[in-house]
Amino acid sequence: METIKPNKQPFVHGEVALVGSGPGDPELLTIQAYRFIKQAEVVIYDRLVSEAIMDLVPEHCERVYVGKKQAEHRVPQEGINQLLVDYAHSGKKVVRLKGGDPFVFGRGGEEAQFLLANNIACHIVPGMTAASACTSYAGIPLTHRQVAQSCTFITGNVQDNGALDLPWHTLSDSKQTVVFYMGIKSLPTITEQLLKAGRTASTPAAIIHKGSQPDQKVYRSTLEKLVELVIKENIKPPSLIVIGDVVNTFDEDHLKHIGYVSPK
Ligand code: SAH
Repeated sequence: METIKPNKQPFVHGEVALVGSGPGDPELLTIQAYRFIKQAEVVIYDRLVSEAIMDLVPEHCERVYVGKKQAEHRVPQEGINQLLVDYAHSGKKVVRLKGGDPFVFGRGGEEAQFLLANNIACHIVPGMTAASACTSYAGIPLTHRQVAQSCTFITGNVQDNGALDLPWHTLSDSKQTVVFYMGIKSLPTITEQLLKAGRTASTPAAIIHKGSQPDQKVYRSTLEKLVELVIKENIKPPSLIVIGDVVNTFDEDHLKHIGYVSPK
């Protein structure tokens, strides 16, 4: 029976490596991710994998784009799963390259389950997840003594029934940083529910668009004004939403060289 391979084992033909590429800056790739990418014979990648990282893929390697747009899936997940199996069966070293970390809102778990069910060995190579990397690039500590003792990563993606069914009451603590992935579309619901749950309207909030990439933008505002900001600045995915007092750890003068700071 094939298994998840220990990370130090060599990459063998007919295996699949689920590789996290981080948020875009190739310098944030792990050395392990780089090692797997350099051995790839086919790379199956999506929209979040930056061009700079795709430039590292070997020239002779086949590239298969399975990017998704919100609500308009280019290749459905079942199709991607099957593609991975088919390429593995063809005897190639298959790299499934994903933005951030494959196991954080990346469906890496589902893909690995499908591969193992088809008796294909897989490697899971971690990547730097957006919440960690983008906040560092934006000068926002996720936790800060006396300001935030915990941090929660949440998906803002609505379920099949169209509802954003989240445990809002657990997010009301003012000393908790709340990070939303895929939250732009459902931001009106997010802000409304957080305010209802007891977060104050003046809670600092930030949106990081294309974090770590050359066109990174960082917007700062407050919880109550966040929706207005997204409309005014026409902010699109991929963007990370960070809510909590940590957003104001550094003042604007100290941040002026690392991205646009919107007027409060
Ligand atoms: N597996 C990824 C997350 C995939 S979900 C990870 O670990 O980072 C896709 C969401 O991640 C996007 O909608 C956005 O909210 C966030 N994201 C990923 N890369 C990002 C980037 N470079 N800048 C801002 N947000 C990013």
